[in-house]
Amino acid sequence: MLRTVSKSSNSKTGPIAVTYRSGQHSTYSTCPASCPLNPKPAESTAQVDQAYLRALSAAVPTAGQAWTYSHFHWSKLPAAKPGRTVINYSADTIQDAIAAVRHGRPAVLAAAPADSRDSWPVSYDQVRFAVCPEQLAPAGSTFSCSTCGNGRPLCARPDRDYVIVFLAHGTGRRLAESDDQGGCYAASGPTAIQWHGTRTAGQADDAAAVRRFARSLPPGSLLRHHIAGDLGLAV
Ligand code: SF4
Repeated sequence: MLRTVSKSSNSKTGPIAVTYRSGQHSTYSTCPASCPLNPKPAESTAQVDQAYLRALSAAVPTAGQAWTYSHFHWSKLPAAKPGRTVINYSADTIQDAIAAVRHGRPAVLAAAPADSRDSWPVSYDQVRFAVCPEQLAPAGSTFSCSTCGNGRPLCARPDRDYVIVFLAHGTGRRLAESDDQGGCYAASGPTAIQWHGTRTAGQADDAAAVRRFARSLPPGSLLRHHIAGDLGLAV
C-alpha cells in the first residue's frame, strides 16, 4: 500500500513530495525482518519486492530528484545512478556503511547515539562520516531536506562517497541506542499515524502508484520516498 503526499508538513523534510509504504495487514510488512530497529520483525519479510523496486528506481520527477533509505542489506540494493532514485543503505554499524560505500551504494548510519553529536565528522578507513545538517541546525531553524545542499539534498546525491550520520531521536531513542530489538523512529507520533493509515488509505498497486505520483509532480520537484516503510514484498 502506498500513501502519497504532494506537499509534506513534516518539519524535517520541509514542503516536498513524500510517500509512506506499508502492507495491507501490517504496517511493518514491507520492512526487513532483519532490521534491529523493527519492533515487529515477525510481521516483516526477508524478500525485496522486485516489481516495486523497479518502479521506485524510475520514479523520479521530471528534472527533479528522488531518494529514499532501505534497511535491506546493501547487496540487495541497486548501485546509485544519475537520473534514478537514490536508495541509501541504512547501516547499523560503521563497518557495514563503509562496505556499502566501497560497493557503490550511498549509505547512512541509522541510529548513532544521540550524545555523540560532537564526535562527528570523523573518517574511518578513508570514508568520512558527518551528521545530517538538519539535526545540527539550531532550534527554531527552518533548515530541512528541501533546503539541504543548496538544491541538491545530500541524500539525493548518487555520487556521494561520505556517510550521513543520523543521531537516534524520537521516543524510541533509548531503544535504538541499545542492543534490544526496536526503536524505529516511525513507531510513534505523527509519523506513525500517517504510516498506520497507509494500510487503509493507501493505494493497493504500489508500483503503479509510485510511477503515477512521480509523473504527476511539477518539473524540478524533490521526492522523498518512504518516510516510513521499505522495499519488502508485503505478505
Ligand atoms: S542530509 Fe540533507 S537530505 Fe539527508 S536527511 Fe539530512 S537534511 Fe535531509
